[in-house]
Amino acid sequence: MKGRAGLFWRVGKIHRKAARFSAITTLHLSNKVKEMTTPVTTLNLPFGLTFADLYHREGLLKLDQVFLEFLQIRNKDLSGQYTRARQGESSGESALLLSLSPLVNQFIGALFEEEAASSLRQEHQKFAIILEVNRQFVQRVAIKQYPASIAASFEGASLRQVLEAYTNPDDEQALAEQILTWLAASENYQSELDLASRYTAWAVQTEEGQRYHRGQSLYAVPHKLDSDHLIPVEPTGSHGAWQLPEGHRRLRDGFSLTDEGLSRESTLHQAHYCIWCHHQGKDSCSKGLKPKKPEEGGERFQKNSFGAPLVGCPLEQKISEMNEVKSQGLSLAALSIIMIDNPMVPATGHRICNDCMKACIYQKQDPVNIPGVETQILKEVLSLPWGVEIYSLLTRWNPLNFQRPVLLPDSGYKVLVVGTGPAGFTLAHHRRGFAQPYEWRIRGRR
Ligand code: SF4
Repeated sequence: MKGRAGLFWRVGKIHRKAARFSAITTLHLSNKVKEMTTPVTTLNLPFGLTFADLYHREGLLKLDQVFLEFLQIRNKDLSGQYTRARQGESSGESALLLSLSPLVNQFIGALFEEEAASSLRQEHQKFAIILEVNRQFVQRVAIKQYPASIAASFEGASLRQVLEAYTNPDDEQALAEQILTWLAASENYQSELDLASRYTAWAVQTEEGQRYHRGQSLYAVPHKLDSDHLIPVEPTGSHGAWQLPEGHRRLRDGFSLTDEGLSRESTLHQAHYCIWCHHQGKDSCSKGLKPKKPEEGGERFQKNSFGAPLVGCPLEQKISEMNEVKSQGLSLAALSIIMIDNPMVPATGHRICNDCMKACIYQKQDPVNIPGVETQILKEVLSLPWGVEIYSLLTRWNPLNFQRPVLLPDSGYKVLVVGTGPAGFTLAHHRRGFAQPYEWRIRGRR
């Protein structure tokens, strides 16, 4: 459910769940509108916290203290590193973010009794098998053994029929598990592995195969980028018009988006496709694609074939870290990482800006679909029973934001923000959290 109706539905859901918790909730409501607009005041939170605590600074400090104790009990060393990082004494922020992520995910999940968060993780782990077989077998063995010119001569339907004696080839999870079993004792299953090679090579490299398995990650392989043909349009044959091929067209209905964004599976696929360049300090999606020889030409960034500088994310969001944490199924922690730099993420992501994708290290093949991953992480969290509250809390308390984990006290300053686009409302958000006058620079305007 989208937009205002979706928000109202969520508020109604919060009300129903809070009532089940025997919390102090709302007045008796006689109609839907009242239910939608009446605030829920209390939720039975663990650790002696109240729902109201999540909305004022003293309560947030209490929550922060509980988190620090939790961390101290779970991992003393990490707790020490974390304390130093919050005091501005630590280097290696990315490594620390990754080490903290499982515990942050667990803590926030426990705070909101989100069992759904751990089942989300299990689902991710199950799906990881598909990605493993895609990388190790489909990409490295099958399509090399049977390139497109050979795969074109295969009969997909007949191969599928033979495979059915072992497993259901329409079920990518089942087929991936079967291939893994064969690979584990490959000397005994040469003919079975050859059958799987032929079938997956056909599915990946023929139009019919791609149509049959559209959207399945087991058969997804990156394509070479052709900057002159970024959109695969074809002539309609009349009036000099062009159109997308069958199966790619979407009808516009009012102002709604015409696509649903990435599925959970495709998101995980993209998070694994990313090679987590922050480990080498080369996450150009975030920092921009630097010239190979910086001393030449004096340019700060490389340009693409259209002459546009590849500046990366205007917010310098920690994209590589987000992808790595997401690949482990830690959606709550991945959202916390996004929100260090982009607390207003519901207004960005999919279909807003793709400067990050343009600057991705993959310049000759499909870049990582970063905005798609970002938006799906947000959607996954919002779809949890207390997802809206989790997002809202992270705008005021974010343990992965080492510089400002807790909203600062009111500075007494009054700030006029002119314009309510993404820059304006992000500025307004950041001003809320700084007690001192703050210099604001928009890096995207280099
Ligand atoms: S999104 Fe691209 S540039 Fe960024 S870390 Fe992943 S592979 Fe590297």
